[in-house]
Amino acid sequence: MLDPNCLFCKIIERKIPATIVYEDELCLGFKDINPVAPVHVLFIPKRHIVSLAEAKEEKDLIGYILTTMARYAEIEGLEKDGYRIVNNTGKYGGQTVFHIHFHLLSGRFLLWPPG
Ligand code: 5GP
Ligand code: ZN
Repeated sequence: MLDPNCLFCKIIERKIPATIVYEDELCLGFKDINPVAPVHVLFIPKRHIVSLAEAKEEKDLIGYILTTMARYAEIEGLEKDGYRIVNNTGKYGGQTVFHIHFHLLSGRFLLWPPG
């Protein structure tokens, strides 16, 4: 379920601190330690899944997290000007923490395409 060596599992277990902004029985949202936008929140499942590539049986859970993020964005008033949800998978995707997570970015105009 949780991996004792995983940074984000430790955040779920409150073994390392984080600014938690959302929590329910299935997922956790917390502020990124190195924000790249005025709003930069990471949403993770409360189970250790390495990446989207590994999430083969978790269709419902992934859909749940994404729609939960949209509801969170709505509550936070981010809908008006918009926001971006990003998942980085593997080396070329730029993934650095190997517990699946979705970045919610907002509060400024975001360029496209990514570098
Ligand atoms: P990735 O590059 O894997 O998509 O994103 C990992 C994110 O986790 C990065 O944006 C990074 O700033 C964030 N991060 C890394 N370590 C910590 C930490 O200990 N606490 C928090 N809150 N965020 C972290
Ligand atoms: Zn983990």
